[in-house]
Amino acid sequence: MSTLHIPQNLERFPDLHPALDSQSAIAEANRCLFCFDAPCAAACPTHIDVPRFIKKIGSGNLRGSALTILDANILGLSCSRVCPVDVLCEGSCVMHRYNKKPIEIGRLQRFAMDHFYAKGGTLPQNVRQERPQAGEAGGTAGATTAGGTASAPASAPASSAASSTAGVACLGGGPASLACAAELRRHGYPVTIFDNRPLPGGLNTYGVAEYKLRASDSLREVELVRSLGVEFRQAEIGGAEVTKSVRLEDVEREYSFIFIGVGLGAMERLGIPGEQLRGVIDALRFIERYKTSPDFAVGRRVVVIGGGNTAIDAANAAKRLGAEEVHLFYRRTEKEMPAFPFEYDHSKVEGVRFHWLAQPVEIVEEDGRAVSVKFVETRLGQPDSSGRRKAEPVEGSYFECACDMVIPALGQSRLMEVLHTACGIELKGGSIVVDRPTGRTSNPKYYAGGDCVNGGREVVDAVADGKRAALAMVRRASLAADTGGKTAGATRDDAGATRDDAGATRDDAGATRDASGGTRAEAEANHG
Ligand SMILES: Cc1cc2nc3c(=O)[nH]c(=O)nc-3n(C[C@H](O)[C@H](O)[C@H](O)COP(=O)(O)OP(=O)(O)OC[C@H]3O[C@@H](n4cnc5c(N)ncnc54)[C@H](O)[C@@H]3O)c2cc1C
Ligand code: SF4
Repeated sequence: MSTLHIPQNLERFPDLHPALDSQSAIAEANRCLFCFDAPCAAACPTHIDVPRFIKKIGSGNLRGSALTILDANILGLSCSRVCPVDVLCEGSCVMHRYNKKPIEIGRLQRFAMDHFYAKGGTLPQNVRQERPQAGEAGGTAGATTAGGTASAPASAPASSAASSTAGVACLGGGPASLACAAELRRHGYPVTIFDNRPLPGGLNTYGVAEYKLRASDSLREVELVRSLGVEFRQAEIGGAEVTKSVRLEDVEREYSFIFIGVGLGAMERLGIPGEQLRGVIDALRFIERYKTSPDFAVGRRVVVIGGGNTAIDAANAAKRLGAEEVHLFYRRTEKEMPAFPFEYDHSKVEGVRFHWLAQPVEIVEEDGRAVSVKFVETRLGQPDSSGRRKAEPVEGSYFECACDMVIPALGQSRLMEVLHTACGIELKGGSIVVDRPTGRTSNPKYYAGGDCVNGGREVVDAVADGKRAALAMVRRASLAADTGGKTAGATRDDAGATRDDAGATRDDAGATRDASGGTRAEAEANHG
């Protein structure tokens, strides 16, 4: 597999949160109170046993620590770097109650994961042999594995259910499918991931800001998943190009279950004159280009349009790529801006200039290139159907901002109408409707998770969804095997639902997170 290596990006995008050295990691690990019923583990969507992995760092068992993390979250490396920890695990650390700095869970997780990959990044032949067992020294009393679900060994002999299933197809190769595939392999099921990009990993490879996660690190995780026996195929499911496409009917025929993890679509358009001009590039393409093209050149004076996390990522990147001025325009105010507050604060430090209450009406052209953006001032009116105050144009208040690059960042569109229609899956607002505890769609052959279900949240949410769906498929397949093929899925899934009640609590944590920080989906949907 090819890797993406752009040497100048290493200099331009040094790590946002530098790695801990051994001494600091041990000191930080020893600050942890190792809470029983730790709130950090509950707030983590994948329920990593945080106290257990931290305790192992403190005792020098770094591989054991990494395996504890991977047991719950196969993308432990990327999550350690990209998770918005302030609103997840670290946000719920008990240290807050004592007015002390929360334990640096993300950086400790990264410390263990970096060690794991530096030592070769291999999982044990029989994962269970090296897996942490309940009650083992270094663990938390009463702790369970990921979400209360013990995974089977990676190389375990296939169960009778696993050997009787034709396998599972995962559509899309992003975090949701990677987590789903890894969990299925741990239970012995054959899995194939179909992804339409040159390299798998989804937005972890092509979208997340370079100073948080490099594409090469995303690909290391892909290799870890591959090492479990997952097959990867580059193909567009249901795509228009016949040579690169695989027909959905063929996938349906070949596989027992299908997991949909296709994420979201292209960025929404501004819908104003001038969008097609040279010098206009949407935020997703902009981020992908600078991460993958060594000769990509940024403008000198850049205008970014939008107030979400992706807009901020693009603005910061433009600055680091050498733009002299980066101006971000948002049609509401700082208060309504849906980006996470820490992302906004960081952007100010990067030198991005923010402009509120302005809406673009035209991109102005000279010789086929964008040379400025014309805006109209807005004022905030009554709340609209979403509850947010509407931005209303102020008549006659036009102004222009000169620039040589425009980056619209209005949120991603919903994907794959064709696929959804073809397999008879219920959609709501463009997202796939699933039974929350199992990830099962209205067509029982299909499961789904990640951005295409939640409308766009975080990597760790996609991982949790993928894992949950995999376990539900395993339960159903086992039941079908036990009953000689007569699946009484409901009964077995009920058992799963009980376990997933824990998940509901976790989602409550998610709800709190939304209230305090906003999700990426809200962030990007702000131009609606
Ligand atoms: C710019 C940006 C920055 C982000 N930064 C962060 C961050 O800092 N922290 C964080 O936690 N989250 C971040 N996120 C969110 C995070 O990346 C997503 O929530 C996560 O990647 C969702 O995973 P997924 O597997 O559902 O979808 P994706 O990662 O989108 O993967 C879906 C994959 O399916 C493929 N696909 C689509 N259609 C087909 C088809 N028909 N056939 C085959 N393959 C198909 C796609 O090409 C893609 O590879 C960011 C998102 C964006 C856009
Ligand atoms: S995966 Fe993310 S939320 Fe969970 S413990 Fe690790 S850093 Fe925190």
